[in-house]
Parts: sequence; C-alpha cells; structure tokens
Amino acid sequence: MGTPYSATITFIVTAGVLNIILGLYALSGRSRVITVKSFVVFCMLSAIYTFGAALELSSNTIQEIRFWIKFEYWGMPFLPPLNLIIILSYLGMERYLKRKLLIAMFAIPFVTLLLVLTNEWHHFYYRNIVLNIGAAGQRVDILIGPWYIIQGAYTFACMIGGAILLVRSLRRMPSYRFKLVIMLTGLVLPLIGDFLYLCGLTPNGMDPIPVIMTVTSTLYLWALTAKGLFHVVPIARDSLFTSMRDGVLILDLDNRLIDYNPASAAMLPELHPSVIGEPLEALWQHHSSQPIYTMEERTGMEAEDADIQEIRWRLGDQSYNYQIRSSAIRNQGGHEAGRLIVLIDVTEKTRLQEELRQLAYYDGLMRIYNRSHFMNLSYSLLSQAVRDHQPMSFLLYDIDHFKRINDDFGHDFGDQALLHVVELSRSSLRSEDVFARYGGEEFVIALPGLTLLEAEDAAERIRSALLSKPMITSLGPVRVTASFGVVSVGSSYFDKSDARQWEWDIELKRILRSADQSLYEAKRSGRNTIRVSEEEVSPDA
Ligand code: GH3
Ligand code: MG
Ligand code: MG
Repeated sequence: MGTPYSATITFIVTAGVLNIILGLYALSGRSRVITVKSFVVFCMLSAIYTFGAALELSSNTIQEIRFWIKFEYWGMPFLPPLNLIIILSYLGMERYLKRKLLIAMFAIPFVTLLLVLTNEWHHFYYRNIVLNIGAAGQRVDILIGPWYIIQGAYTFACMIGGAILLVRSLRRMPSYRFKLVIMLTGLVLPLIGDFLYLCGLTPNGMDPIPVIMTVTSTLYLWALTAKGLFHVVPIARDSLFTSMRDGVLILDLDNRLIDYNPASAAMLPELHPSVIGEPLEALWQHHSSQPIYTMEERTGMEAEDADIQEIRWRLGDQSYNYQIRSSAIRNQGGHEAGRLIVLIDVTEKTRLQEELRQLAYYDGLMRIYNRSHFMNLSYSLLSQAVRDHQPMSFLLYDIDHFKRINDDFGHDFGDQALLHVVELSRSSLRSEDVFARYGGEEFVIALPGLTLLEAEDAAERIRSALLSKPMITSLGPVRVTASFGVVSVGSSYFDKSDARQWEWDIELKRILRSADQSLYEAKRSGRNTIRVSEEEVSPDA
C-alpha cells in the first residue's frame, strides 16, 4: 500500500461503512417520523462525505483530489441543516419545519454545491487548491474564496443554533436530559474537531470531521433509540397533539403559554411561536368574557384535577360554544407543574340540544309551552304549593266559535288569531305563572300562590283585554273572545304533602277536569264569560 495515509484511509472508510449501517438500522425501525427520516439522510450524506475524504487522501494528483473534493460536497454542506432538523424534530418542534423554511435551510448548501462543481470558472468558493506533497501537514493548500466563508458561517450557525435548542430543552424536558446530553455531545464533537483542525492540532494535519461525523451519527442513534426513542408512544403522542381537532394549550404555573397545537391556532389566531412564554390571559380576553381557570382560583381543589365549563367564544363576527377542559399537569413528584387546557367546539351540539329542547317543551306555532311540559312543571309547582300550604289556581280557556273564524277567513287567519290571544294573555301574566297551549285553541295557566278570587281576577283581565283589543287585520278589526273555567286547589290537599309523583299526576288531571267542567258551563251560558268551580277541588280520598 503506497500512501502514508493507509491507516487513516482505512479508518475513514470504516467510518463511512458504519454510517451506512447506522442509516440502514434506523430505516429498519419502520418509523416514519421526521427525526428518523432526516437521520437516515444524515447518515447517507455523512457516508458520501466520509468516502470522498478517504478517496481524497488516497489520491496522488491534484485532478484526483479536486474530483474527490467535489464528491465530498454532495454530502458535506447539507449535514448542518439536516442536523438542525433532527434536533428540531427530536424536541417536538416539527410544526415549525414548514416547506418554506426547509427550502431556505437548504438554499445555502445547494449554492455551495453548485459553486464547488463549477469552481474552475469563477473561483468563488476556492481561490485555488495547490498540491502540497511532501509536507508533513496538509496535503493541499487551500486558498478560500468568499462563499467558503458564507458556507463556514452557516455551518457554525446551524450547529450553535442546535446546541442552544438542546441546552434550553435540558431544563424544560428533564426526563429527556440524558438523551439530550448525548445529542449535545454528538453536536459539540465536530465543533471541537473543527477548532483543533483549524489550529493545526490534529495528527498529520488531517481533517478529523469525516471520522467525527460517524461518532456523531452513533451518538445520535443512541439518543434516538435509548429508552425507546423509536418508541411509538412519544411519536404517537406528538402526532395526536398536532392532528387533534380539539384545541390544546399548555400553560405553566403562571398561566404563560408553553405550547399549543394547530387546532388551537385556528381558534385563537393570535397564537404564534413568538407568543410562547407570554401570559395567555390577554389573548383569551379577545375571545371570551369568561376567564380561564387560573391556578389561584384552584387552590384547595386539588382533589379534583379536571374542570369542565362551557363558554361563549367570539371569533371575528361569529360566536361559538366551547367546552373548556382544564386539568393539572403533574411532574414525577406529583406536584402541579402546569395546566392542560383543551378547547372543544360544541357549537353544533349546543344548537341541536337547544333545538331538541324547543321541540320537546314548546309549541311550534306559538312558542309557548306545550301540554306535556306544562304538566311536568305543574306537578312540581302543585306539590311545592301544598308543602308550603300556599294556595294555587288554574285557568283553562277556549276561544269562542273558532271554527267560524277558520271558516270565514281561512286557516292562516285562524293561526293569526291564536297568536293574538297568546300575546294578550301573556301581557297579563306574572313571571311565576306557567302558560301553555292545552289543545287546539285551548289554553291553560297555572297560577301558584293565587286564591280562587285572585285567579278569577286574572281571568277577567284576559277576558276584557280580548274584548277591548280586537285583532287588527286588513279586513278591519276582528274581535276574538274566549270562555274561562277557573279552579283552585283546596286546603284539604295540605295533608297530602308527602304524595308521590304519580299521585300528583292523578290529582293534577282531576283538578284540570274540574276546570274543564267550569269552562263547559261558561260556554253553555253564552260564551265570553268566566265560571269558577264552586268548590275547591279536594284530593281523592
Ligand atoms: P266553541 O265556542 O264551542 O269552542 O266553538 P269552536 O268553534 O271554537 O269549537 P272548538 O273549540 O271545538 O273548535 C276547535 C277548532 O279549532 C277546530 C280546529 O279546526 C281549530 N283549530 C285547532 N287548532 C288549530 C290551529 O292550530 N290553527 C287553526 N287555524 N285552527 C285550529
Ligand atoms: Mg273553541
Ligand atoms: Mg276547543
């Protein structure tokens, strides 16, 4: 073997082979995560660089050396940005790796490659490369050009950027500390090697970086695999975090934003990497008048870690319903270390619930309670009144000759007449009264606290309002009258205060039957009048 560098060359070639093996090993991990993908590319490009360096050393002519230097540049300039991508994705910051940023990161290395390949024409990268055979130190003297400095500065910027990210994460990700230190070592070694090389402190003046890149790759692989870095859980967690449809915000103990997922950025458009570390309260107030659960409010509620509340959320001129789930993030010692806020869009669910509630409780035409909801509300009012020994009365009334209105003016007109009656009745009610459509053109009112006489007065107010305020129509005023039956619950009920729900059901029907009888009497005695049940209703013995 001719060259004095045989041992070094063997060493470097071994390093190159090792890089390929490392890459293949990582590839066999079946993981599709960006860290692994970029690591595989990193290993392959390192191998190109390493083999180029070995073959450069084994070359004897300046042409051969120039050729292998060009070969090295297919790998070498791309390693620093790839290194940074591995670190960014390793630290869970993949979402910053947008297409535009990736293009920008590889722009300088790409220009470097082009300039190296075409250097003979412009000498912009190397001013000259001169063979230095026989010298104890370097084999070639390189006179650097302006772009060489740019590529060098970029290389250092990427490495130092990566180092800063790793050091910053040491504090934030304590459970990853060991792995982060391994990665940091892998990153710092080439920097040290470069420094020694530039100071002429390496053996035979040899460039140690190709070999060091293999050490770096090995350390990275260790960090990636150590305690399950190819493990599916952190990867799954991360992709879940980014792909969730619910917004997720992570806060520290002072309610400052630590992290957020893309879905939350759609809910809070102010979210941007630059607001990380800022208090969330100011952003939150743009969208909701309800506060986020703060740590202070929650002291003394440790036992119950998760809280759920529903809030109104404004976004532009739209309004949404969000369910907010706030839960404590605990460190290994069980101490609260921060807070996880999940924002779930329940606008559609709330709208459907409201629609169902309207359908279940209200009459579709008149927007007053329907009969079944009236019954439900009346059971509890009746049992409450009986328990409190308070009077309670009911009005039942039916529109007079309503068929004629329908026949003479049409069904739509009849509907208008019903709304007219509802409007006038409603204006004579108290807030505690329960007003409902009992049947076709029959209405019922529960009047808690009113005696028979007072209830009769209430009926009279509605009757005279109907009489004095005819319905205004295009055909002129149309008077709509009604007949009323009034009933009051007797004091004999007071003994039944412990009755069950089904007993109240029977009693309520009895009471309303009595009101119906009075209403029938009112009809028989000429309509547009009120009849009261002479006797207070008594419970079934
Ligand atoms: P009376 O004075 O004896 O009560 O005479 P009436 O004509 O009002 O007789 P009744 O109470 O039996 O009339 C019920 C009529 O009300 C029959 C039905 O066509 C009409 N009706 C029931 N519901 C509606 C409705 O929602 N809209 C309209 N336009 N008519 C209705
Ligand atoms: Mg009628
Ligand atoms: Mg009727």
